[in-house]
Amino acid sequence: MRLALLLSPLAAFAADGFTDTPILPGTQWHVHDPARPQPAKVAAGKAICQTTPAPSGAVVVFDGKSVDGWQPADGAKKPQLWELKDGTMIARGNDLRTKAAFGSGHYHVEWRIPAGRKVKGQSGGNSGVYLLSMYEIQVMEGFANSTYADGSAGAIYGQTPPALNACLPQGEWQSYDIIFTAPTFDASGNVVNKARITVVHNGVTIQDNIEILGPTVWRKLPAYKVHPEKLPLLLQFHGDPIEFRNIWVAETKASGK
Ligand code: MG
Repeated sequence: MRLALLLSPLAAFAADGFTDTPILPGTQWHVHDPARPQPAKVAAGKAICQTTPAPSGAVVVFDGKSVDGWQPADGAKKPQLWELKDGTMIARGNDLRTKAAFGSGHYHVEWRIPAGRKVKGQSGGNSGVYLLSMYEIQVMEGFANSTYADGSAGAIYGQTPPALNACLPQGEWQSYDIIFTAPTFDASGNVVNKARITVVHNGVTIQDNIEILGPTVWRKLPAYKVHPEKLPLLLQFHGDPIEFRNIWVAETKASGK
């Protein structure tokens, strides 16, 4: 009995996922279900991962020279900025958010898992890109590491796995091009149009205009709450020194007007 109690947390960890969580609507899968199918691997080209310059009109929120556009996220116990080294921003201490607020648009983010980083499941290679500070696209080591599908690289965390696994090895720069449409709410605060998202990972479309169920939560079903149309972009510190470079946002312009 005592042994079983001692072993049970380890067993849960080894399974890397959960089956005591709610069923996601429209699926047969629990939140963070270890049995949910893994996205098929696709070989992404490295060439596509060279830095993509910001188009004119985009706001460059990290240019490799300064972290002035960022601040520690609310609630940090010992707020600190991330390390700036060799043109990269390295996650440490707390989540970081932009000083500026952004809404619907094209978000370009380049990230790298440091070479030689020891990774297992959700540990070692974890960060995240949070649109409007609350809708997470998972950053994860997914080339040599596996974890529950809705927590893998490019997942809408806790909701929708990527259609494909386009991860490159540790030590390689990777890119996310995220087209995000913010939700809208009525005067009573009820969601009218849920957020939608398209994610291109290393040139491969892995999320194609997918409806987001609500703000990211762990082990629970998400639920919308009214929020401003624009909020800061947030990058997650999950205990791992994930590197970032060349981050820009081109807010959506209405077409045909
Ligand atoms: Mg994460």
